Amino acid sequence: MKQSQLFGHTLRENPKDETSVNARLLERGGFVYKNSAGVYSYLPSGWRTLEKIANIIREEMNAIGGQEMFMPALVEKKYLDATKRWDVPIGFEAKEKNEKTANFVMGWTHEEVLTAIATRYVNSYKDLPFAAYQIQTKFRNEPRAKSGLLRGREFIMKDLYSFHSSEEDLKNFYEKVKAAYFKIFNRCGLKAVYTIAAGGVFTASHTHEFQVITPVGEDTIFVCLKCGYAENKEISKLEEGDKCPECRGEIKMEKAIEVGNLFPLDTKYSSAFNLQFINSEGKKEYVIMGSYGIGLGRLMGTAVEIHNDDKGIIWPEEIAPFKIHLVEIAAKQAEENSVKEQAEKIHEELIDKGMEVLYDDRDDKTAGEKFADADLLGIPWRAVVSQKTLEKDSVELKQRNKKETKLVKISELLNLKFSAKGGSAFGGKI
Ligand code: ATP
Ligand code: MG
Repeated sequence: MKQSQLFGHTLRENPKDETSVNARLLERGGFVYKNSAGVYSYLPSGWRTLEKIANIIREEMNAIGGQEMFMPALVEKKYLDATKRWDVPIGFEAKEKNEKTANFVMGWTHEEVLTAIATRYVNSYKDLPFAAYQIQTKFRNEPRAKSGLLRGREFIMKDLYSFHSSEEDLKNFYEKVKAAYFKIFNRCGLKAVYTIAAGGVFTASHTHEFQVITPVGEDTIFVCLKCGYAENKEISKLEEGDKCPECRGEIKMEKAIEVGNLFPLDTKYSSAFNLQFINSEGKKEYVIMGSYGIGLGRLMGTAVEIHNDDKGIIWPEEIAPFKIHLVEIAAKQAEENSVKEQAEKIHEELIDKGMEVLYDDRDDKTAGEKFADADLLGIPWRAVVSQKTLEKDSVELKQRNKKETKLVKISELLNLKFSAKGGSAFGGKI
């Protein structure tokens, strides 16, 4: 991708009305555009990252048997009437212009919709278990929508729902989701703490949250420094300095962002919609359910909050919009064209290799401006092509999170594996 053609260029100044780090860096980098408070557009480079997050989530959800589907954003009143959730103030009501009262709400959750669908397909215990998820936009009139992608009034969520014939089966699946969530957050470059949270509104058992510790978090958790045991302050009886109930380690109080959660729903929705199955003894029982959410934008915003420095974003490899930033520094004199020609050739060859490359081909920027933009954009690898590097048939390679640079032969560059896991493309030499 040529940077001169990329829709959404970098801004010199921080946007005035943004206070959070993620919103400032993402807007300055041309990743997102704020349309209204808590309402953002993803520009092409930001969308690349969001899609990567979506695909990581898809892979891990599919690996535990989740089936992807897609439900409507317009949710008719009858669904929420069934669980008395029509009047929950978080909803944006949607009505036809000529109507006096709304008959729809913009979907802010989909338990009711999916449970209603399931009544057509679940009859016997043989139809269970199953788990279905979607990646879809939710709408909530959040009173505190001021932290960029962390709390939107419109935001993209992965919501997974599972259906079981026994408590035990739900428990087993719950553990699988927990393991999948750890993988997802790790792959997105985040250490998340599995936290015991509020008792379900509907069940005796607790719910669970995945929390990323950072001072900008809205939640407070008590977490054991030794084993990672954690409780949300909302339900915890722990205090800082207490001994961990699991391992006797020391408990600390930390601010954290909730990036995902797990809820045992038991029969709250199945009973509201009369979702029953015939068990192996021929008796009718209510289906036991669970629901599991991850906010994709919140995850992206959290990654930026955690991975940045005073110059800009430092994208974790697997969710970086591009893997390598090819920066052409053309001399003003006669050689100018040869640098451009060479850089263009390298760009083409990297593309042929299947590499995701952003090529800074801009003629109206100084070297200093290009380096500053490269740091702001935070692409994991930067390869500089200049007259000086070309004299040695090389490019100057640097990792965004390291100081060192190294001259690497162009032929070598094209064969390097910029793997997410292998660490360094220099084989550990840098
Ligand atoms: P919170 O307590 O932060 O409001 P929640 O309990 O309302 O979250 P859910 O309704 O279960 O969360 O949503 C599932 C996931 O969606 C959350 O774990 C979070 O990652 C994300 N999420 C929830 N609300 C928002 C929002 N307003 N903006 C962005 N992501 C959100
Ligand atoms: Mg909420």
